[in-house]
Amino acid sequence: MAEKVLIIGSGPAAHTAAIYTARAELSPLLFEGFMAGGVAAGGQLTTTTEVENFPGFPEGISGPDLCDRFRAQSQRFDVRIVTETVTKLDLSSRPFKYSTDEQEGEADTVILATGATAKRMDIPGAGDGPDGFWQRGVSACAVCDGALPMFRNQPLAVIGGGDSAMEEADFLTKFASKVYLLVRRDELRASKIMAQRAKDNPKIEFLYSTVCTAALGSDGLEKIRVKDLKTDKEREIDCLGLFFAIGHIPNTSFLDGQLDLDEQGYVLTKPGTTTTSVPGVFACGDVQDKKYRQAITAAGTGCMAAIDAEHFLASNP
Ligand code: FAD
Ligand code: NDP
Repeated sequence: MAEKVLIIGSGPAAHTAAIYTARAELSPLLFEGFMAGGVAAGGQLTTTTEVENFPGFPEGISGPDLCDRFRAQSQRFDVRIVTETVTKLDLSSRPFKYSTDEQEGEADTVILATGATAKRMDIPGAGDGPDGFWQRGVSACAVCDGALPMFRNQPLAVIGGGDSAMEEADFLTKFASKVYLLVRRDELRASKIMAQRAKDNPKIEFLYSTVCTAALGSDGLEKIRVKDLKTDKEREIDCLGLFFAIGHIPNTSFLDGQLDLDEQGYVLTKPGTTTTSVPGVFACGDVQDKKYRQAITAAGTGCMAAIDAEHFLASNP
């Protein structure tokens, strides 16, 4: 017998979709993945410390704790959660077919909530080993971590030349004494309006043709070493926070081109809905969102996907 709803993913989008479809008595089956996309079940929030902007937790909550709570709420409504990665989907006809390394089956609707992975740079001192400052000054999300007390009135740096880098540098100037924007080429990729806003901000200093070659410090990040690619000269600058804004990779490679994706691989959804180019397949969270990329927006679209799937099943039994 085909499942009514198959949910793929394990972050706020997947679990919100699971809670809603379970409460609608659709008995969802959720594959949370096993280190899928290099990230533990629970998704991107398992890689962060404090989450301070998810409503309902006025004191803040650690990322892994929040993930555990999402999962526990799904379990409360008897969602069947399987710790396996979906490796293949056949979306050519309904019921759709899925397989993992351990099993295969069929489903009438599929909710894709596989998220995206923030790109990180392999710079000495920026890793998450004992010698690295990952989450001790180095981050891939300024909106998430920028307001932490350790960054207040301190010099910070953002790497990237796209819209994310402009937006994040601008955002960080609310807290920082100064923000260096390290751009590897001598031109930006960002849209004119976003670039102009950053250029107009007196707290942002653009360092063009510049790369970061090391993150340095003792207990936490204190300095970065930067290299001017035109002169090959290196220097150290004081910097207590280093933020990567060099893009994300959506976890869509297993879809094998069966759905319409944009040029960066994000699932295309009809605006204002979670419907994809294949009727009966819905997408929510970061796998279809390159703009907002927040836990709360992922949860919001997870709710939308559940309701869209419920309506679809009602009119396509
Ligand atoms: P994700 O969280 O990306 O999770 C999807 C997960 O699904 C994957 O990680 C993987 O485990 C699983 N999966 C992937 N492929 C498969 C497959 N084929 N089969 C089965 N399972 C699969 N947002 C905030 O609102 N506040 C914050 O403070 C905050 N801090 C952050 C800190 C960091 C370091 C990062 C990287 C992000 C942060 N974010 C924060 C952003 C937030 O984590 C994301 O927007 C949110 O997690 C996206 O949720 P999602 O449900 O779309 O998927
Ligand atoms: P982009 O892919 O647009 O830009 C990535 C930037 O990072 C580029 O400048 C790139 O340099 C640089 N980069 C990549 N790898 C490295 C590296 N290893 N070292 C140094 N620099 C590196 O990603 P964004 O996340 O900025 O944007 C993604 C999409 O989201 C875009 O379509 C953007 O318009 C959209 N967006 C829109 C926003 C808005 O409108 N408010 C806000 C944020 C994003 P190079 O240019 O040399 O390749």
